[in-house]
Amino acid sequence: MRQPVRSRLPTASGKTTFRLLMEKVVIIGTGCAGLTAALYTARANLQPLVLTGTQPGGLLTTTSIVENFPGFPEGVDGYELMTRMQKQAERFGARVKFGTVEAADFSRQPFVLTVDDEPIQTQTVIIATGASHRHLGLESEANLENKGVTYCATCDGALPMFRNQPLVVVGGGDSACEEALYLTRFGSVVHLIHRRDALRASKIMAERTLSTPKIKPIWDSVVTEVLDVKQDKVTGVRLKNLRSNAESVVDCAGMFVAIGHAPNTQLFKGAIEMDASGYIIPKRGTMANVPGVFVAGDCSDHVYRQAVTAAGMGCAAAIDAERYLAALNE
Ligand SMILES: Cc1cc2nc3c(=O)[nH]c(=O)nc-3n(C[C@H](O)[C@H](O)[C@H](O)COP(=O)(O)OP(=O)(O)OC[C@H]3O[C@@H](n4cnc5c(N)ncnc54)[C@H](O)[C@@H]3O)c2cc1C
Repeated sequence: MRQPVRSRLPTASGKTTFRLLMEKVVIIGTGCAGLTAALYTARANLQPLVLTGTQPGGLLTTTSIVENFPGFPEGVDGYELMTRMQKQAERFGARVKFGTVEAADFSRQPFVLTVDDEPIQTQTVIIATGASHRHLGLESEANLENKGVTYCATCDGALPMFRNQPLVVVGGGDSACEEALYLTRFGSVVHLIHRRDALRASKIMAERTLSTPKIKPIWDSVVTEVLDVKQDKVTGVRLKNLRSNAESVVDCAGMFVAIGHAPNTQLFKGAIEMDASGYIIPKRGTMANVPGVFVAGDCSDHVYRQAVTAAGMGCAAAIDAERYLAALNE
């Protein structure tokens, strides 16, 4: 159930009118960034309203084992980690509500967010809406996600299932090169599959990648199927050469898709400054170009994209918001 955002006020005439309640902080998103911001703002007695969007707990809930979040020497299930983060924030007074922000008006104070057709007024907003990775769009890819298909080498490359196994990276930009180079620490060989006949990556990155003996480029090719859905794990990829139309199969234990990310910031377009790819650029600390609007996590970070960096940015945004409110209300 959504928290009512209006209070009933009796008027002199006896009629009931509605008055919008004013929030001090609304946090958009409940991934690592949003929930850490919730914890810090809650502990600062700001009673943040935290909106889940369509993916409560964020991206990490889609992965079974997180091995690089500090404090969990045996690793931790992604869903469990996010449930714990939410409980921790709620313990100090954060109000986590299921709801998706549809529109944001940052042109005047208080800001107005439209959430499931209802307006919410707030003095500050922390945007922590994350980013979505691009998929190849294959049915077999979706069926084998987390069973050998992954979108993050830093997150998953060290898993036992990939050690000393042939691996595949799909893509040709800087990210794909970084993923391929990183995976050479674990895989027996890394096939880099690119739809063109040259990498799109920066010159230095392309040279480093192509001069690494463990990385074997496969040019002019696309993945048409991930094998093997019947075995419920990745055993290889079927490729099509775009010049010759010839088909081939490359054996591998994992497919790392690195064809780009898109920040979930479309709804703020025009309301706030972002770069050409849609990442929100903070101006001072974590504050965006509009005073009172703060940003944290993958929606403003196309470099690190890790749970712990998102959490760190959530902490920073919360402290910045708290200080901004203190100055505003002085
Ligand atoms: C399969 C997988 C495995 C991973 N494994 C690891 C790992 O092992 N270690 C690691 O460090 N990182 C890992 N990552 C990366 C990590 O998940 C992200 O870096 C992290 O989740 C980013 O946190 P975030 O809070 O910025 O965004 P997200 O986790 O993406 O959360 C975004 C939140 O915003 C909400 N939202 C979006 N739009 C709206 C809206 N309009 N209104 C309201 N809410 C909205 C969403 O519902 C969601 O709750 C993995 C990622 C994936 C996909």
